[in-house]
Amino acid sequence: MFSSRPNANDVHGTFSRPWVTMTGQTWKLVVFLILCILVLAFLVLMVLAMDKTSPVPKFNEATSAIFGVLSGAAALLWLCLSVRCKACRARVAWHVLKTADAGKWGWQLMSLRVCPVCCHAPGVGQGSNSEREASSRVV
Ligand SMILES: [Zn+2]
Repeated sequence: MFSSRPNANDVHGTFSRPWVTMTGQTWKLVVFLILCILVLAFLVLMVLAMDKTSPVPKFNEATSAIFGVLSGAAALLWLCLSVRCKACRARVAWHVLKTADAGKWGWQLMSLRVCPVCCHAPGVGQGSNSEREASSRVV
């Protein structure tokens, strides 16, 4: 009856859509990417300030560096604290950051098909919860 229910070995399985998308949390990754772009913008401002060609004279190299570091910290905090499993409330992005290789965590987060902590797969499983999730996707 529950043969389609994933197990711990299916964390990066072959279900059709990524877990982040299935749980409606893609916008949180977009916010993270926007904050990362902000970090790059402050880095460019810092370099331009060092070269005395900054279009924003109030942002000297120290100010740009401080805002860049704060933006980076905000991006990382946002990602780690906001991406959560709706079933077990685990901080999934934080879990992936802790357990994945340094250069692969982003790809692993995007390729998740089930929660890596509880193996919950949105739309798969028993009860009305999965039926409600499936019907909410139909537009
Ligand atoms: Zn979970």
